[in-house]
Amino acid sequence: MISPGSKGALKNQGEPKDDINIAWDPSLQSSWTWRKICAVKDIFKPGYHLNQWCDGKYTVATRYRWLQGPQTKAQWAPVVWNRLNVPKHSFIARLFAKERLLTKDRLRAFGLPIDGICDLCAVHTEDHKHLFYQCAFSIRCWAILRQWLCVSLPPQDILHWCVNWRCRSLLKKHLVFAAVVAVLYQIWRARILCRIGMVVHSPTQVMKEVKSFVQARFQSRKWLSKYQTTWFFKAV
Ligand SMILES: [Zn+2]
Repeated sequence: MISPGSKGALKNQGEPKDDINIAWDPSLQSSWTWRKICAVKDIFKPGYHLNQWCDGKYTVATRYRWLQGPQTKAQWAPVVWNRLNVPKHSFIARLFAKERLLTKDRLRAFGLPIDGICDLCAVHTEDHKHLFYQCAFSIRCWAILRQWLCVSLPPQDILHWCVNWRCRSLLKKHLVFAAVVAVLYQIWRARILCRIGMVVHSPTQVMKEVKSFVQARFQSRKWLSKYQTTWFFKAV
């Protein structure tokens, strides 16, 4: 049980019916937990007054949103959190979008004594731009994807292109997003496998895996129009 303790007094500051206006002053002898609870109460106090939570409108979700403050939605969110994505692909894609993946240039900046050469091509310096757009391995993967889905993916800023891509079929759009995110994941996976000395498949084989992922996501749909089915299986 958490108790204010004998010296942690509860002081009423004038509005006895409103619990939020009672000042809780824990003494120095009160437990850490109790002092923390009292501090949190003060943080949330303005929220109670501004949002009328005392009138029965309180939920944990509204409190959490209030505490977070105004949020701006990332432009790439619809691509990264697309519902047809495989979750592990979305996770890597989010790190890619924020350029937080631990490429060698970042690891060296942290002071790790490693060479900076790209493991996939063993020629150029590995950084975010090189690994995902300029490495021979990645260039080949993107080329196969372009040919497969008949989309004009640019040589860089692929997520930005996805966000602005106009497509009448929502399903087609979601499938292309899922494929793009799967390619990002596979490039990163190939880099990891190469780094730990395991066999890395050729871009052609890697893209076969991407196709099977996307095909499985497509076939998981309950309802498909004739146009969607024709387009997809023509592409596959
Ligand atoms: Zn490379």
